[in-house]
Amino acid sequence: MSDINDLRNQMDEVTLEMIKLLKTRTDIAKEIGEIKKNIGKGVTDELREDNLRRKVISLCIDIGLDETIATKFFNFLLNESVKVQSTNKQTHLSIFLKAKSLEQKGKKIIHMEVGEPDFLPPSIVKNALEEVFDKGFLKYGQARGMPIFREALARYVSKKFNSDVTQDNIIVSPGARFSIFTAITTLLNPGDEMIIIEPAWPAYKDCALHSGIKVRTINTTLEEKWEPSLEKIENAINSNTKMIVLNYPNNPTGKILPEKLQDDIINLARKNDLYVLSDEIYSHYAKNNWKSILSYNYKKSIITQSFSKSHAMTGFRIGYGIADTKIIEKMAKLEALCLTNVSEPIQYIAMKALEADISNNTNTVQDRLDVLTQKTKEMGLDFVIPDGAMYLFARVNQKGFDGVEFANSALEKGLAIAPGDGFGNYKNFIRISACQDKKTLIEGMNILNDIMSENQ
Ligand code: PMP
Repeated sequence: MSDINDLRNQMDEVTLEMIKLLKTRTDIAKEIGEIKKNIGKGVTDELREDNLRRKVISLCIDIGLDETIATKFFNFLLNESVKVQSTNKQTHLSIFLKAKSLEQKGKKIIHMEVGEPDFLPPSIVKNALEEVFDKGFLKYGQARGMPIFREALARYVSKKFNSDVTQDNIIVSPGARFSIFTAITTLLNPGDEMIIIEPAWPAYKDCALHSGIKVRTINTTLEEKWEPSLEKIENAINSNTKMIVLNYPNNPTGKILPEKLQDDIINLARKNDLYVLSDEIYSHYAKNNWKSILSYNYKKSIITQSFSKSHAMTGFRIGYGIADTKIIEKMAKLEALCLTNVSEPIQYIAMKALEADISNNTNTVQDRLDVLTQKTKEMGLDFVIPDGAMYLFARVNQKGFDGVEFANSALEKGLAIAPGDGFGNYKNFIRISACQDKKTLIEGMNILNDIMSENQ
């Protein structure tokens, strides 16, 4: 009996010692965070993390500790450092909210920061709004969505992407955002790792951080035409890696991967048994050849889709996920827990929206992207012509240019644009969004040009 008490006391001591060490580590992380902020350095330094990870693994070998457990614990520590070092980053959303409050004070703002089409949803949606009450879609329902809607989605998706999807492969969610959240948080556990290719929509990283999942970032550059190196992805994979996130056509670059590179990434995922979360909400705005991840018939893929962009239905909050039934079941459990089910009337309206011809939206956005491309060229900014989506991601080659400061000062002049920093370590980039009519876009680009000339 006294043996067990002794051991328990020892364990208490060790635990308390670890807590003290955690405090010391957190204090150091905060100090480093301050310095990084002052010198304008990003929070995550993958190279340093890799070096330390190697040391952790070699220590495990020396002392005979299971490497998987040790690296999960290590990932927890890394995430804690990221949390204490992440001050409120300014993203397209914070600029949008600032712009809204300036508008309330009477200032005129041109919105080129946000990915929200200015055009209306298809007119069939208006009729559906009127008729839904009498149709009686007004009750609680299955967490994964109304069978009649999922059936319609399965038919739509199968035809559009030439695949074989059934209603059991579909979960309806309030926006693609929530399917992304449920996929990440139900399929991965704390300490697991997830690969994100940056620049990227920030929510993937935020979901991971929220759930104790470690993000491994693959940075891409304008010079490499935003194409990730397969070798870098391969090097980032270890026994804790569970998922890779793809988003093509991409927000913010508009990139579509060359088919061979996409094939290679999927092969790599298969070889390493990784989930592939492919966020395809901009597929309707693909200018160049684009292939859905659905076409690979990969059991561990999850595709997210939405009515927000294709049907200009951002405010309806409706999207869906497509995956193997086992994955859908897991996601549905969390959805049931969080929100019972997506509002039935909204599901009905989205179902009707599937009947609309939305090809005009594609042409509208492509024309606008052409206008932005032309104007950005004239201004001499560096960028890769987008293959799709609704954005142009451009580098400003002015000395010491800081996208966040710039976006804030542009607001004063009546223009809202998104700083590149919100999408990764891209301080000298801005994202310009094609969600206004051509005349307004030209007006906005002229303001941008004026500010740049003033700053030269
Ligand atoms: N994925 C990407 C890449 C996005 O840009 C956005 C919204 N801007 C979303 C998902 C979320 O879309 P939803 O409105 O369907 O939640």
